[in-house]
Amino acid sequence: MNGKGRINLVKILLIIAMIIGISVFVYLTGGTKKVFVHLMYIPIILTSLFWGSYAGLAAGAVCGILAGPFMPLDVHLGVMQDPVNWISRLLMFSFIGLLTGYMIDRINKLNKEKQERNLKSPFYSHLPNEKKLFSDIESYIRSNKHFKLISIKLTNLNEIEKYVDPKLAFDVVDELAIKLKHYCGKDHVYSYEKDELIVLSCENCEAGYEEKIRKELDHYSSFPVSMNGYKIRLLLKVGICEYKGGDTTPIEIYNKSRIAYEQGEINESGVYYYNDSFKTKRREIQDITGAMLESIQRNELFVVYQPKIDIVNNRISGAEALVRWKRNGKDLVGPNIFIPIAEEIGFIDKISRFVFNNVITQMETWKSKGMDIKCAVNTSVHELIHDEYSVWANDLIKSKNADRSDYEIEITERAIAYNDRRLIEKMYYLKELGYQLSIDDFGTGYNSLMSIGEIPFDKLKIDKYFVDRINKTEIAELIRHFIEYVHTLGKTVIAEGVETEEQLDILKKFKCDEVQGYYFSKPLLPEEFEAFYEKFNMADKRGVVGY
Ligand code: C2E
Ligand code: MG
Ligand code: MG
Repeated sequence: MNGKGRINLVKILLIIAMIIGISVFVYLTGGTKKVFVHLMYIPIILTSLFWGSYAGLAAGAVCGILAGPFMPLDVHLGVMQDPVNWISRLLMFSFIGLLTGYMIDRINKLNKEKQERNLKSPFYSHLPNEKKLFSDIESYIRSNKHFKLISIKLTNLNEIEKYVDPKLAFDVVDELAIKLKHYCGKDHVYSYEKDELIVLSCENCEAGYEEKIRKELDHYSSFPVSMNGYKIRLLLKVGICEYKGGDTTPIEIYNKSRIAYEQGEINESGVYYYNDSFKTKRREIQDITGAMLESIQRNELFVVYQPKIDIVNNRISGAEALVRWKRNGKDLVGPNIFIPIAEEIGFIDKISRFVFNNVITQMETWKSKGMDIKCAVNTSVHELIHDEYSVWANDLIKSKNADRSDYEIEITERAIAYNDRRLIEKMYYLKELGYQLSIDDFGTGYNSLMSIGEIPFDKLKIDKYFVDRINKTEIAELIRHFIEYVHTLGKTVIAEGVETEEQLDILKKFKCDEVQGYYFSKPLLPEEFEAFYEKFNMADKRGVVGY
């Protein structure tokens, strides 16, 4: 008999002893005419408490019988009870047993429901939450089990919810969670936050589950998924942390899986395994924040220019200015790392002024050398919405006596997806001032091609993501469709991240106007750009150096 069985046996014996004891006591104190017969409520209520309503009912009936036909009303006078008397008591005992048991059953059920609710995700009712996750990890650690924690962050779920369809966002996660449950067992997929699923691997997982999960996630993030009539691309970042024993806490393991997925490009999907060097890298990023504030004074920022090639007329049509940071004069930190931090700490505006200033000076030099090119600068939506941006950008141009139509302002499509009237108005204003506008990274946001027609722009830049997959028929068709539609609006199209001749040939076939990418050249320092310009015009079309 196990521990629980033994406890139950003790309880049964206790109740039986109580019932017999009380019956004897009632008899010895002279029968049911005395108040002591009511002591029977104690074993009845205890039985209901231990085993619920039916047991309570049975205990009531047994006590009713023992205090019933065989128990005299007055032992000394030898008077027996009137049957109506003991039958009503028996019914009363049974009813109290049943009622108490029912109430206790209800309370227990409500408590259980509350406990379960406490362990369920508030967003996806079929998934357990982080409390359950941490308690499961805790028990794995205690029993020294090896396991893997897989955190899956859907980085663009908020945007899908806000700008496409809130229901769609939930449906996407639901569908993904169901697939993951299939590989790992239904109790091993958890929801941490609305946009984060966690898988805790265990011996119940299907053989080769990790590979299968990887393939599933790859599929989700590589192709636009069709759901509820929408076609959307999911950005999934996956962090995996492996536990092979040792002293740690659930939160530490979870944090490691999180640190793992925070690696890599902000707007790219990917699977990352945790390793201890990540912690150091993270600390470095925190250091960057402090160091960046002094980067301009210390002359650590500089601008490089990536050529844009007009593939219809086979000429260099312009350049995109891209900022670089040589931290402490030696480590090159990429804009994908420091631009988001600069936006967060309100330093982006200083960087933009620095870049714009450099670009205007550079363009003056190039114009004086007879180079016929336009130059594009990137901008972040936060600064664009602020009035100062158009004021200082305008003042800078005026003070240098430059021609605004030589300058193109790139705004990422993700920013435009914010659907903010103020932004669209600002774009109209910049156009009125005479700047060229282009929509950067097209395809990474949530605008349909049709809604693009309502936005003022001159050039659409197809994101590298699509160019990388141009050999897939579905994507190639999409690109062709982008180009044709943008041409019907009388605007031009440039493809970003062109790296191979094959990509270039397909884009030429689709009548794309311009390309930019490593196939022709990486971003270059001004003097390298000049050399490339000359070489290109001498018919040597490709460069290899660059930043
Ligand atoms: P973006 O504006 O889409 O710039 C294109 C990025 O793709 C650049 O990365 C460029 O070096 C890279 N690229 C171009 N062709 C190829 C290719 O063939 N293969 C590959 N693998 N990459 C290619 P970069 O310079 O690291 O810039 C990243 C992003 O940082 C930019 O994306 C832009 O959004 C932002 N950024 C750069 N400079 C500035 C700036 O001055 N201000 C602001 N607000 N953002 C900036
Ligand atoms: Mg750009
Ligand atoms: Mg881009």
